[in-house]
Amino acid sequence: MKLTRKEKSKLVIEGFITIGLILILYYAAFVIFNRMLMDAPAMIREYWIFGDAIISIRGNQIISVTPFFIIFLTIIAIATIYWRLKRRYKQMQLNHIISELHYIAEGHYEHRITTVFGDDMEKVVDSIHVLVDSTVQAMEEERRIEQSKDELITNVSHDIRTPLTSIIGYLGLIEERRYQNEEELLKYTHTAYTKAKQMKVLVEDLFEYTKVRQTTTPLNLTQFDMVQLLEQLVADFELEAEKRHMEIEVITSYETVQMEADTEKLVRVFNNLISNALKYGKGGKKVYIEVQKTGKEAIISVNNDGAPIPEKSLNQLFDRFYRVEESRSQETGGTGLGLAIAQSIVALHGGYIYASSDDRLTRFVMHLPLKQLAVE
Ligand code: ATP
Ligand code: MG
Repeated sequence: MKLTRKEKSKLVIEGFITIGLILILYYAAFVIFNRMLMDAPAMIREYWIFGDAIISIRGNQIISVTPFFIIFLTIIAIATIYWRLKRRYKQMQLNHIISELHYIAEGHYEHRITTVFGDDMEKVVDSIHVLVDSTVQAMEEERRIEQSKDELITNVSHDIRTPLTSIIGYLGLIEERRYQNEEELLKYTHTAYTKAKQMKVLVEDLFEYTKVRQTTTPLNLTQFDMVQLLEQLVADFELEAEKRHMEIEVITSYETVQMEADTEKLVRVFNNLISNALKYGKGGKKVYIEVQKTGKEAIISVNNDGAPIPEKSLNQLFDRFYRVEESRSQETGGTGLGLAIAQSIVALHGGYIYASSDDRLTRFVMHLPLKQLAVE
């Protein structure tokens, strides 16, 4: 650490003061001892064991201090001066660190204490840097969360405003009796009703999304057979697949895949993946669900042929409210929350999900642990 001129002179003054104090102390000790020797020479002599090594006494007077004792006193004096100066130097280092800390605390979070300090002070500086880094990280995380909440509110307000405007519009027409006949009246009420249902779906999805986003959301775990569950689900979707002239089936080499999970939540995930595959696999003929198993996890993929998902959209699919441009314009009526909910549910189970897509196949693959870790 480089000392300022003021600090250097402070150290020099400290040195001189210490030397002065030591000299006064030595002199006082010498005078006291001399006095004692004169007042009670017999008593002192009685206990005079090592005395000759320090002082040569002749008669009742101290004659001289021995060279050995002078060296001893000098060493003690140097050690004391060194100790005091070192203490003062450390204090100065600390003051430097404190003033730099104040500077950082004023909002200069990118500032780093670059002065080189010796040994233990360096450890203090390192710890300060670690602390500052983690504080900055926490602040950034906080800011990110705040920003994403704002985004959420903007998206929700936008998605609610659109159907709400049209509901108000149609109800306004009815209120002002601006319809020609009953048929038109029914048409208006029907549109308002459909839009209101759309809003309900959005609000429900949003509720579900915020619920599964919390890592503390409890899972209602049960033992079940994944193959059987998927076969039931596929049966439920058969009619819809038929309407779209598509085939849907479960493909697996396992008779059963026993596992533990919250089936209600997983069904939500599969419902979305399957309905996505049917809705968005434009020009596709086939949807199939593959079940595989490794030692510890079940790997389930929902696959469909048809139009692929553009490469640049692949890593955004799981963002809330994200919808590929085409599906937006087609008005397929989704909220764009399905995959975000799916990802959170899979994560709650300690698994992960990803998507891949090419001209041949669009796949949503999830890895789920067969057993859930016991929570206390
Ligand atoms: P929601 O599921 O909430 O009703 P959504 O289906 O639009 O609405 P997600 O399920 O999150 O929302 O899907 C997000 C977007 O990803 C979809 O809008 C669609 O553009 C795209 N997508 C999802 N699955 C497929 C698929 N199998 N093939 C092509 N595009 C898909
Ligand atoms: Mg969906």
